[in-house]
Amino acid sequence: IPVDPFDLVVFGGTGDLARRKIMPALFRRCAAGQIPDGARIIGVARHGHDAESYRALIAESLRGEGADPCHLEGFLRRLEYRSLDATRSEGWDGLGIGMGQGVRAFYFSVSPDLFGALAERLHAHGLVTPEARIVVEKPFGHDLESARALNRVLAAHFREDQIYRIDHYLGKETVQNLMAVRFGNMLFEPLWNSQYVDHIQITVAESVGVGARGAYYDNAGAMRDMMQNHLMQLLCLIAMEPPAKFDPDAVRDEKLKVIRALDAVKPHHIVRGQYADGEGCGYRAEVGDPRTTTETYMALRAHISNWRWAGTPFYLRTGKRLVARSSVINVMFKDAPHSIFGEEAGRHANVLSIRLQPNEGITLKVTIKEPGPGGMRLVDVPLDMSFAEALGPENQNPPDAYERLIMDVIRGNQTLFMRGDEVEAAWAWTDPIIAGWQARGDVPKPYECGSTGPGDAELLMKRDGRRWQGIN
Ligand code: NAD
Repeated sequence: IPVDPFDLVVFGGTGDLARRKIMPALFRRCAAGQIPDGARIIGVARHGHDAESYRALIAESLRGEGADPCHLEGFLRRLEYRSLDATRSEGWDGLGIGMGQGVRAFYFSVSPDLFGALAERLHAHGLVTPEARIVVEKPFGHDLESARALNRVLAAHFREDQIYRIDHYLGKETVQNLMAVRFGNMLFEPLWNSQYVDHIQITVAESVGVGARGAYYDNAGAMRDMMQNHLMQLLCLIAMEPPAKFDPDAVRDEKLKVIRALDAVKPHHIVRGQYADGEGCGYRAEVGDPRTTTETYMALRAHISNWRWAGTPFYLRTGKRLVARSSVINVMFKDAPHSIFGEEAGRHANVLSIRLQPNEGITLKVTIKEPGPGGMRLVDVPLDMSFAEALGPENQNPPDAYERLIMDVIRGNQTLFMRGDEVEAAWAWTDPIIAGWQARGDVPKPYECGSTGPGDAELLMKRDGRRWQGIN
């Protein structure tokens, strides 16, 4: 279904994110017939292009999409270009020329240092209409103080319902499925509490290293780059109370309550790691700093002090250059309280695994009788469902997160975007952990590329009589 005509301005329109994610997402929505003829997409960068050379640049980025020439032509027709510098006033009045009365969205795909300047210029040049909205990329701040400062700057020019803070994890089809699985089924919710759940594991493992993002990453680390935002969002969706309805504030209110109920994490419940110098693989060599103590891995044990989860730990881990790329949530149920089959049948507990990527789907480990005449022995088998298989071949390639999120911006639906208070609460939980490392001069534990992370992460579990589920 096409949306109403809109104007979308992409600041940073020549940048890496615009070329790799934003423009391909818009192109695919356009090819799917969702972007009407009257819509305009305006790439903005400091200099170096005119409309023709900009279209050629974007056409080049779309080549990998296997773009049908007819679809490509249709998309490029909607694409325009302007040169503007966020830090200077010249040329801004021209940006509004030709803009319609409908939705106008300004995508800030530039360094966060420029967010304030962009917001001020848009306002000063009369471009902020009641239907205007802005999209801001991560990272949203570096700590609580900077996130608050950013929220203040944006709030000076935009209402909260005009600000769309992207966490692209929330746009992933399978992450949204977490809510469908939890709240669309009667089966799980009654068991979804500390009475039946022993603990929950959330793993976001990457097999790649920092690549070309070394300069940014070395200032951030796994805590700021992944834990504070993506893993925190997964934790919220898994742990929150059922919202009254699937509406932006109802969902975000419940997520915020989870973050606010998190206890401070004890230092001995945190493991930091860094992939070590090995053959052709080492973080320090990659970022060109032999002494950097930035973590490329971290694991921690979190507690949510509320009625539902008191006593059920949440183990979160994320890292780069691990054995496989895999994002999965494992809900580890408690053992049956009593085994009627005697000790020799062994201890068995159900595990619900929700795979976010790759091979998206759900597996429930159930216990059945081992076949054969040898008495009552038990064995665990998977009840396995892959979304692609279950939903048919037409759903093999679900829309990319950016497609969903950008169209939500145009439609004005903030459910899958972070609210200012949520981001601040997440930093309030993260800051003391980072301050503790700094105060103690903490050095991350080395781990081998292609491994499951530092040995201390296994110990974190072992001390509690538990162990991590496999990464792949
Ligand atoms: P980039 O350096 O590749 O591109 C920056 C863009 O900003 C360029 O188009 C440049 O012309 C423009 N620009 C720079 N200074 C400007 C100024 N004074 N006025 C107007 N335009 C100016 O950056 P990127 O990797 O595309 O990242 C953009 C944003 O997205 C950043 O906030 C980044 O943190 C975020 N982000 C990027 C990625 C990624 O994979 N690249 C992932 C997540 C978030």
